[in-house]
Amino acid sequence: MPTILGIPLDVNSSYLRGPAAAPGKIRAALRSDASNKWSELGIDVGAAGAFGDAGDLRLSNSHEQGSQDFSEIERVVGDLLQKGHQPVLLGGDHSVTYPVLRAFASHYADLSIIHFDAHPDLYDEFEGSRMSHACPFARIMEERLAKRLVQIGIRTLNEHQRKQAEKFGVEIIQMSALPAYDQLKIRGPLYISFDMDVLDPAFAPGISHHEPGGMTVREAIAHLHAIEGSIVGADIVEYNPAQDISGMTATVAAKILKEIMGKMILGGKGR
Ligand code: MN
Ligand code: MN
Repeated sequence: MPTILGIPLDVNSSYLRGPAAAPGKIRAALRSDASNKWSELGIDVGAAGAFGDAGDLRLSNSHEQGSQDFSEIERVVGDLLQKGHQPVLLGGDHSVTYPVLRAFASHYADLSIIHFDAHPDLYDEFEGSRMSHACPFARIMEERLAKRLVQIGIRTLNEHQRKQAEKFGVEIIQMSALPAYDQLKIRGPLYISFDMDVLDPAFAPGISHHEPGGMTVREAIAHLHAIEGSIVGADIVEYNPAQDISGMTATVAAKILKEIMGKMILGGKGR
């Protein structure tokens, strides 16, 4: 069963704080009576028992206790996996994906990741931090926490990150190469990491790093629907309520959440 867990952590953000306040806002938007709870694939995500909610983690959200916070994330996600849940993490900044994947790696030896993002997040270190939200996929690939990493929607690739991608064998689908439905048919257990800034800021202004030229909400949903393979976990990160305009990005995050959970409930069928 998909089970939501909020991770209120934004201490590893490099530019603006704010995503720590995201989990409650996304839940509220999902619960809102403005829309029904049916995913477009015909799954009633609002049906009794369709998904679980493990609440929010209690974290220090401080640099001083950064490693304790990461251990706590890893422990609680590992616990959910142990109990047979399919964790759906609500960030938080993107740094949370590293401890989350440490938990997943001890349950799935052959995990593949599909990573939606404007940014590759492959920096070896960023502004002196190796735990920055600009670095999680370097840590994940160094520790071989996933067998494959497929990034989609990328539009900020620089020379350092291109070299990092080459070193780690990361498959990058740049924004300019879309649509790329066929490249999302992947065998084996699958984890989806969805950074809200993969969307064009016109559709999702509530983020810390506005990067024009991104996906429409429709393009993102079409690519999510095209995914084949068994989705065992997911995260939605980098929603920044402090940057939002009348809650519109919360609504988009809740829509993405609904479509991802619908896919998880439906099983491995693609578009
Ligand atoms: Mn990211
Ligand atoms: Mn990003």
